[in-house]
Amino acid sequence: MTNLTTGSRPRFWLAMLVLWGLVPAVSSAQSWSTVTSPALGAPRAVGSYTAGCVQGAEALPPDGPGFQTMRRYRQRFFGHPTLMRYLYDLAAAATQQRLGLLSFGDLGQSRGGPTPSGHASHQTGLDVDIWFMLLPNSQPLPAAERETISAASFVQADGRTLTSQWSPQHGQLLQRAARFEAVERIFVNAAIKQALCLQSPGAPWLQKLRPWRGHDDHFHVRLRCPGGDAECQGQEPIPAGDGCGAELAWWFTEEARKPLKRTSAPKPLLPAACTEILHK
Ligand SMILES: [Zn+2]
Repeated sequence: MTNLTTGSRPRFWLAMLVLWGLVPAVSSAQSWSTVTSPALGAPRAVGSYTAGCVQGAEALPPDGPGFQTMRRYRQRFFGHPTLMRYLYDLAAAATQQRLGLLSFGDLGQSRGGPTPSGHASHQTGLDVDIWFMLLPNSQPLPAAERETISAASFVQADGRTLTSQWSPQHGQLLQRAARFEAVERIFVNAAIKQALCLQSPGAPWLQKLRPWRGHDDHFHVRLRCPGGDAECQGQEPIPAGDGCGAELAWWFTEEARKPLKRTSAPKPLLPAACTEILHK
């Protein structure tokens, strides 16, 4: 896809796509990851979680009250100010509830956009991966260690049972994380949702916990489009109910456990406003 920007004919097609209001996301993943400063201007989430960007993002510091950040070499510690507020508030709540020090993994790149590896989403500065690891005291790990350490899984190889490291604090953290109005949904491993369904059947906060593949060593919080960000596209609302019934049961079937087939579906297209944000 890189030759889209070289020969004159591909350039013509790129110009046409821009005119139509769309640019190919995949061609620019590399350019998005190499820009390391936010685009100045009023905060603005543009496009969808899987094809978008952000202006006026802020950076999380390496650590702060109740949290530490992980793998900063990836340069994915930026987010919409709404996400920053959420993370500070969640860390404060976790401290108050004595749940432990939180570890924040990937947020988004400085201007959002597609990443060359690791995620389809995290593009509008409204997604964050939070490790299940809870440090018992308020002391962050040494910075160098945080660059290399891997997140440990809390689900056993059978895909159904949680490890002995899982504690009531983990459930309390998910409950607290989901209760913020700003949160649209949270992706967790089906075995984790199942355990919480058994523990708190019918609890309204369970609705926001959405079973998904992986997410056994971290959970993924997705915020709603901030009010006033007219260019931000949300997603289909979550079905009513706690989601603990047939839908959750499906995740434990043979069909669900088969590896995902690779599809050749075209990559989603970024809104044209993202080109302007990238080159600001
Ligand atoms: Zn994620």
